[in-house]
Amino acid sequence: MILSYWEKQTYFNNINLLVIGSGIVGLNAAIDYKTRFPKAKVLVIERGVLPNGASTKNAGFCCFGSVSELKDDISHIEENTVWQTVLLRYKGLNKLRKLVKDNIISYQQLGGFEVFESKTEFEACADIISCFNKKMKETLGLKNVYTVDKNKIKQNGLSGFKYCIKNNFEGQINTGNMMHALLGITYQKGISILNNMEVDKIQDTKTHVEIYFKNNLSIKSKKVIIATNGFAKQLLPDLDVKPARAQVLVTSPIKNLKLEGAFHYQQGYYYFRNIDNRVLFGGGRNLDFKGEETIDMQLTEIIQNKLEQILKKNILPKQNYKIEQRWSGIMGIGSEKKPIIKHISKNVVCAVRMGGMGVAIGSLVGQMAVDELEGRQRNL
Ligand SMILES: Cc1cc2nc3c(=O)[nH]c(=O)nc-3n(C[C@H](O)[C@H](O)[C@H](O)COP(=O)(O)OP(=O)(O)OC[C@H]3O[C@@H](n4cnc5c(N)ncnc54)[C@H](O)[C@@H]3O)c2cc1C
Repeated sequence: MILSYWEKQTYFNNINLLVIGSGIVGLNAAIDYKTRFPKAKVLVIERGVLPNGASTKNAGFCCFGSVSELKDDISHIEENTVWQTVLLRYKGLNKLRKLVKDNIISYQQLGGFEVFESKTEFEACADIISCFNKKMKETLGLKNVYTVDKNKIKQNGLSGFKYCIKNNFEGQINTGNMMHALLGITYQKGISILNNMEVDKIQDTKTHVEIYFKNNLSIKSKKVIIATNGFAKQLLPDLDVKPARAQVLVTSPIKNLKLEGAFHYQQGYYYFRNIDNRVLFGGGRNLDFKGEETIDMQLTEIIQNKLEQILKKNILPKQNYKIEQRWSGIMGIGSEKKPIIKHISKNVVCAVRMGGMGVAIGSLVGQMAVDELEGRQRNL
């Protein structure tokens, strides 16, 4: 790629911060940096035509923890870390809702509903509701976060599920609107976003960072934030983060669809909601953990078939519908269920490993990446 004088001068000279990845984390990092340093030249680099990881592919659940998910987390993660992550998720959501107004992202607090088939599994969760409510009160200041909901399954026309626990504070958004709005704010702030450019490698010379692209271009930036999440290993092979594909389908519009709220099933491995009177249903990664550890955005028969089967039997029994769309996105996970925000070298910080929490946590992680870059105390 040979640049003109104008291209070089306008986009590539004297860059103060270059952000790699235009997902929710990368955009928030760029916005936060430019807000703190209005005169800085900030450039966001994205390999896709659109952000091409998870931020435009997700289910839009503003979830900060269901009972079975947190119970499972506490069984293998230090308990304080689990509640700290809940706090980050909740604060991240509030930050997102402050930056992008509720009506723009279609935020609705319709509740989160965890559904169970097994009495034993339900009782194991129901038994700890009061203890978790106490913890939620201490951590978030919210009263009675979880309650048993005896009517929801019938009211929403579900079948096969027998028990339900409600998170009274869970919300949902329109993911497309959120990303469109974040991109709009990024442009308004005078930040450039260049798409279809894939970073191949970076080198920190201590005075600046050299960025090499797949198209043979190389440029300099004073500082770099890597926000490539599930793709992080390509630039940072030693990091404890690996890709985890998540597959989704959406039905045709359904007359009188009763579904309302954000539904979780099997510790959140399955999730479904109503979007424009259609069902969005995703999950099933637990059917093939190894196979789904990939950056390939293909769909697989084993998971799509299972989604269709549960959809037909449990979510839309005796209803006519078609599957109109299917897609997948790539998350970043690792041995610990919390983001990695750290210096890679003097002028390079990474902010990756959002797991299935990025809608909630991503805005705050963007800000924390800038804190880390600037050597500031993180202020939760
Ligand atoms: C199907 C699905 C459902 C989900 N549902 C939810 C949900 O309901 N609630 C929730 O909180 N979370 C959910 N998540 C997770 C959430 O979407 C992610 O945690 C979040 O979007 C991660 O944001 P990010 O900015 O870290 O990464 P991403 O959005 O993946 O952004 C990383 C970007 O980096 C770009 N990139 C990668 N490598 C390079 C390179 N070398 N050069 C240039 N660019 C590069 C990619 O193209 C990508 O756009 C879901 C995820 C999926 C896939």
